[in-house]
Amino acid sequence: MRTSQYLISTLKETPADAEIISHQLMMRAGMVRRLASGLYTWLPSGLRVLRKVEQIVREEMNKAGAIEVLMPVVQHAELWQESGRWDKMDAELLRFKDRHQRDFVLGPTHEEVITDLVRKEITSYKQLPINLYQIQTKFRDERRPRFGVMRAREFLMKDAYSFHLSQESLQQTYDAMYQAYCNIFTRLGLDFRPVLADTGAIGGSMSHEFHVLAASGEDAIVFSDGSDYAANIEKAEALAPTGARPAASQAKAEVATPDAKTIDQVSALLQVAAAQIAKTLIVRAHSDDEKAPVSFVALILRGDHELNEIKAEKHPLIASPLQFATEDEVKTVCGAAPGSVGPVGLSIPVIVDHSAAHLADFVCGANKDGFHLTGVNFDRDIQNYQSYDLRNVVEGDPSPCGNGTLVIRRGIEVGHIFQLGDRYSSAMKAGVLNEEGKHQIMTMGCYGVGVSRIVAAAIEQNHDEFGIKWPVAIAPFTVALVPMNMHKSVRIQEAAEALYSELTAAGFEVLFDDRKERPGVMFADMELLGVPFHIIVGERNLDEQKVELKNRLTGEKQLLELNQVQAVLK
Ligand code: ATP
Ligand code: MG
Ligand code: MG
Ligand code: MG
Repeated sequence: MRTSQYLISTLKETPADAEIISHQLMMRAGMVRRLASGLYTWLPSGLRVLRKVEQIVREEMNKAGAIEVLMPVVQHAELWQESGRWDKMDAELLRFKDRHQRDFVLGPTHEEVITDLVRKEITSYKQLPINLYQIQTKFRDERRPRFGVMRAREFLMKDAYSFHLSQESLQQTYDAMYQAYCNIFTRLGLDFRPVLADTGAIGGSMSHEFHVLAASGEDAIVFSDGSDYAANIEKAEALAPTGARPAASQAKAEVATPDAKTIDQVSALLQVAAAQIAKTLIVRAHSDDEKAPVSFVALILRGDHELNEIKAEKHPLIASPLQFATEDEVKTVCGAAPGSVGPVGLSIPVIVDHSAAHLADFVCGANKDGFHLTGVNFDRDIQNYQSYDLRNVVEGDPSPCGNGTLVIRRGIEVGHIFQLGDRYSSAMKAGVLNEEGKHQIMTMGCYGVGVSRIVAAAIEQNHDEFGIKWPVAIAPFTVALVPMNMHKSVRIQEAAEALYSELTAAGFEVLFDDRKERPGVMFADMELLGVPFHIIVGERNLDEQKVELKNRLTGEKQLLELNQVQAVLK
């Protein structure tokens, strides 16, 4: 590819709304552009990476015996009513009507569609087990889309669904998928961890998440430094031996504040609470002042920090010092009404207010009182709150398996596998004739990979101050061919053209920078773009029939004879 015939949309400035490095670099390197909240256009270089990730996922799925299909993004409501999820799903499920006023959704996932397909197509035990997958656009109306493609509303997922007549068969496919996921993330060159995950509301017996380790990750994962034990924080809590530390209810204190009616009083209360946070603590307050009703749960902290000291840098599990929420939001997140004793954990106050105007007052008032309350954003931060409630597991705890102590790290969920059991197949009556000729409901597994999220996750792990450092397997191009001042030198032009033809013919993906740009501009763009190998063609080295090869990943430079280049790149 010649840059003169390509779209290089690099930016010098970091867009102000890009909070994490992968989002910043994807914007700066011209990989994606935002259309609207959570909606992104993939520019050519971004798309090349996305397609490579997709292809690795596809190859490993095929290798593991899964079969590719493609289902519609638009799904009709009847299927969701049949599975019972039409009523259960919150606003994340985008619903709409067609011209006949019939209800539809934009598919956030495809259990319903695949179960419907399989119950029609598969009739006999002889056709089982079967594992069908697709790589398809999903839509989830995320509460707060953020971090670019990392948490988008429209994103690309690989989702697979397997069907079985026995738990044993399900376990076999589940194990094969587990292995396929390990293969995928290894081939992608990522530092990842499979962790036990909670099966949660969907039910089922077994689930693992695959996390890419990164400080910006929204999840916390727990693992042992002396064994294979690894779980996400929710599962680790569930697995932790009870009684290991005082139960939340024993560790909490309450500060009654019948008089706290004003901002100052509430602030004062917070200060009282802050002084006590050596222990886990819940503070509840409620004002009876009808004009300015304020109630809040809770100051929920553990550790020995002063309230105004708590910042993301100090608390690896906390992204922001304070979170504000409306009553409804708190109910959604905590599962408890404001004022009730919510779950206790490693988190920060959730301030609940009944009137938006008053909430604004409170924020200002609190600011004035020095609560360090900058950068607070409910939508952005509340998920962390949700994730870190009631930590009964902390770093340094003995591992439940007996070997080693627990380490807590942040992770980006890039894959999730699940034994669903008969949750969908029962509700939708998906069965086959078994060996005895009887109708039997199938048992199911489902297996997701966040294909587009992986692109961002890979950047979180592979970058430096100059830009992206793509693992070779997913780099948009393998080689950047950078001739210096080619337009002034026929000799350079000829050498570069010859190398370009030779390398392209040999199957290398070469980005030939034939723009009339200063060398500095070209180097900067190729580094930002993260092309792993740069071949620099310059006058002085050409005198000796040589070019320079720079390895973007290691920084190493070497001089090569023109006729060695191909061999060295291989
Ligand atoms: P999260 O906890 O991050 O919201 P999830 O558990 O809701 O993810 P799953 O239903 O398990 O997601 O979907 C499978 C995979 O799809 C996830 O492991 C993740 O990699 C990816 N994914 C989920 N939501 C998004 C999103 N909004 N943007 C990009 N990728 C996503
Ligand atoms: Mg989600
Ligand atoms: Mg999740
Ligand atoms: Mg998940």
